[in-house]
Amino acid sequence: MSSGVQVSFLGGVGVIGSSKILMESDGWRVLLDLGLDIPAGTDLLRVPAAPRAGRELADRLRLGVAPKVEGVFRASSVAGTGLGAGPDPKTVVFISHAHLDHVGLAGWVDPGIGVYAAEESIRMMRALAVAGPVPEGGVPTWHPLQPGGPVSWGPFTITGYPVDHDVPGAMGFLVRTEAGSLAYTGDFRLHGRHPEQTESFARLVHGVDVLVTEGTMLSAGFTSAWRTENQVDEQISQELIGTPGLVVISMYPRNVERVRALIAEAGEAGRIVVWPDAMGRFLREYGISEVVTWDQGPDLVEIHAHPDRYVVQFDATDMAHLLDLPLGPGAVFIHANGEPLGAFDPRWELFQAWIERLRLPLLMIGSPGHASHHDLDRVLATISPRVVIPIHTADPARLLPPIGTTRVLPERGRTYDLAALGRSGRADEAVR
Ligand SMILES: [Zn+2]
Repeated sequence: MSSGVQVSFLGGVGVIGSSKILMESDGWRVLLDLGLDIPAGTDLLRVPAAPRAGRELADRLRLGVAPKVEGVFRASSVAGTGLGAGPDPKTVVFISHAHLDHVGLAGWVDPGIGVYAAEESIRMMRALAVAGPVPEGGVPTWHPLQPGGPVSWGPFTITGYPVDHDVPGAMGFLVRTEAGSLAYTGDFRLHGRHPEQTESFARLVHGVDVLVTEGTMLSAGFTSAWRTENQVDEQISQELIGTPGLVVISMYPRNVERVRALIAEAGEAGRIVVWPDAMGRFLREYGISEVVTWDQGPDLVEIHAHPDRYVVQFDATDMAHLLDLPLGPGAVFIHANGEPLGAFDPRWELFQAWIERLRLPLLMIGSPGHASHHDLDRVLATISPRVVIPIHTADPARLLPPIGTTRVLPERGRTYDLAALGRSGRADEAVR
């Protein structure tokens, strides 16, 4: 007799990031994402505090900011925490995309447990591992997941479908079981370079029993100016041409499509982009050509002589490097979704103070990786699930489900029965 399917949310409940969903049935377990809790606000591990090198997982477990899941992690990483180590032979992990708030704990997974992700995500994680120091823990046993190709795991059948996000390889998942179906969006948007991927995912999981969706943009304070990725490219390009002096930029290197566009636009504007050494190592390892770094590129004398021929990528770990640059009249700082990431980042205030002190005009030219509230509603209407559960948002209660869909606000650590969850969305039918 089957004991049904249990679902628990081990992270992402009332917070942006930290996504982790556990599905269990008769001892078989599927983990959807294994995200890191990104320290914000008053979190104990915000800068300058940090977990100790090599013991990050154990420190996080002690502080209650990593999931206490038995049988998953490497023995050395959980020693002394009281948590049983892996590998549990009936557990498997699926990663939606290569952002730390979804993949950040995957390096701690025991090599005896398979970790599935899109080939593009694995390629990115391997490039990051070569450039170091992220990801923590080491390299797990990656298995490439073909889009649309189902994986059977005990009573579960898991299929990954591409969605558009600000990192290549992002996927949403559909998990089918005899007790019902569950879809998980990962992170997605409709205003990026590949909206058709998100639209296709929404059609493919239409009518699913339970939809777990990200809701980043429901969070208060995330009402930034709206641009498509193409508009970001165009506006940055205009600044590269129109700025008489040096352009300093903060771009997130894992948005490799935007990085490629920046290098090309800079070339057209007669400029060379100079990357911090570690970022440059990652970009080269990932396969981006024409990556210039400080250790192999121009020296400061050259940049002071010709500030109009360069774009310098900002290094948030070394604010004082700005003091070496020619930042007189004619220079600008473009913030294009790089680090520090935004007001929720503990380094944001410090960053603002530096920019002000150096009298650098700050241009915010970015576009979020997440669907707007309006686009989220559109995707929900297409999927039309029986039940929707918002995670990865500070304000899950701001999600208003379409007619015919029941919203369930998740509780961290609570175990839900999948069949009962699906039934809770059938109240309208019971009335008939
Ligand atoms: Zn993401």
